[in-house]
Formats: sequence, structure tokens, C-alpha cells
Amino acid sequence: MLLSCENVRKTFGATVVLDDLSLAVDEHQVVALIGASGSGKSTLLRCVNLLTGIDDGTIRLDGEDITDPRVDPDRVRQRIGMVFQSYNLFPHMTVLRNITLAPERVHKRAAAEIRAQALEWLGRVGLADKADSYPDRLSGGQQQRVAIVRALVNSPRLLLLDEVTSALDPELVGEVLTMIRGLKDEGMTMVLATHEMGFARQVADRVVFLDGGRVLEEGPPEQVLGDPTQARTRQFLARII
Ligand code: ADP
Ligand code: MG
Repeated sequence: MLLSCENVRKTFGATVVLDDLSLAVDEHQVVALIGASGSGKSTLLRCVNLLTGIDDGTIRLDGEDITDPRVDPDRVRQRIGMVFQSYNLFPHMTVLRNITLAPERVHKRAAAEIRAQALEWLGRVGLADKADSYPDRLSGGQQQRVAIVRALVNSPRLLLLDEVTSALDPELVGEVLTMIRGLKDEGMTMVLATHEMGFARQVADRVVFLDGGRVLEEGPPEQVLGDPTQARTRQFLARII
């Protein structure tokens, strides 16, 4: 098991956002988090990446309790890549610089090696000719693919994707989903929050339905999306599809 969340509780003031939430993700598995807006998908991903602390429970990565206060968050984040809905590329830096900046600073790896890896990834996703372009010359889909490459260049063990296609024009969604499907084929372990049910069905090994910060239902996509056991899951799917 690569990631395990055990009885995680997260509150913001009086609001319980994650409530006794447990979730296990095996290596090479793709888990899709679905659920209404406000159900806790983003918060869960942010807790896993240690962007926010939890109130109770344990999160383990490769068996290590990463929620132990003695753990260095930067060291954990070197093993996790995270991509958000908004691509967050630096507008005043080239594509290549956007990708290489953090690994050069954080990992202190040789700049030439990082650069070579970045260019290799850009080539693999069909963006080799954009290395020296600035983000505003790229489409939204291209920018989001660059943001994913930026998360991959550290060779993470786990990739967290939070609604990475939600901000895109519909005609640009496909190229990003194709890239994610390619990552799955290469064995990347991913947890992704998505509203794209068709995509979840195609790419996920397991679909987890969050409701009010709890896992209400989980299982293979054909079961959770096709024949859900819970009335709330059925209501959610009826609204979204
Ligand atoms: P989702 O990604 O499923 O839409 P979120 O994880 O963003 O859900 O939000 C879950 C709940 O936590 C919501 O009620 C939201 O208002 C609340 N929440 C998220 N972040 C914060 C924060 N920084 N401060 C207070 N409440 C927050
Ligand atoms: Mg969210």
C-alpha cells in the first residue's frame, strides 16, 4: 500500500470537513474522488500533501506516518506531485524555467540533469517546441499539461490531481485527460478529484464517493457509477450526468 489515510478528521473552526475518513491506495492504482462541491475532496488532497494539518487520525506514505509532527513536510512533498485546477504557472518565466525552478532549489540536483528530464517529459507530451515559450502563448490545455510535467519532474511516488480540467474550455479537456491516461499506463499512482464521470470510469481502478467529508461508497467504477448502493450517490450522479 502506498498511501493510507486512517480515521482522518479535519475541522475548520466548528465545521467538520473530513470525518473519520479512511482510504487506502495501492502502488500503481488510480483512485477517483467524486462528490458534490464542499464534500471535502480538495481538503483531503491538501491534507495528504501536508498543505494543511489534520485534527485526528494518521496519513501514511510508504508506511511512514507523515502526519507525525516531527516529519519535515518538504521531504514528504518531494515524493508527492500535486496539480490544481488553476495551472499556477509563473507568467514571467518560460515553460522550461517553470518546470525546473523548484527541483533545482529543493532537490539541489544538477541543473543539467533536471533540464534534460524536463525536456524529455515535454517531448513525451508533445510540447517540446514550447520549452522556451511563455505561458501566455500556450492554450489552457497546454498550460495544464506543463503544470503536470512540473509535478512529474521530481519523479514523485504519488500524483494528486485536483479538478485539473475544470478550468479548461471543453475542447481542451481531452488533451489533458489523454495525458493522465498515459501516466496511468506507465504505472503512476494517482488520486484525482474530478467531475468528469466518463473519465473516472475509464481511468480509475476505484471510485470513492465523498459525502460530507465521509466515504459513503467506494468500489470499481462500473459499480459506484453504474450501480451505486447508496441513495445519495444516485442523487449525485443523476444531477451531474
Ligand atoms: P470540495 O473540494 O469537495 O469541493 P473542499 O475540500 O474544498 O470540498 O471543502 C470542504 C469544506 O471545507 C467546505 O465546506 C469548505 O467551505 C470548507 N473549507 C475548505 N477550506 C477551508 C478553509 N481554508 N477554511 C474554512 N473552511 C474551509
Ligand atoms: Mg475542490
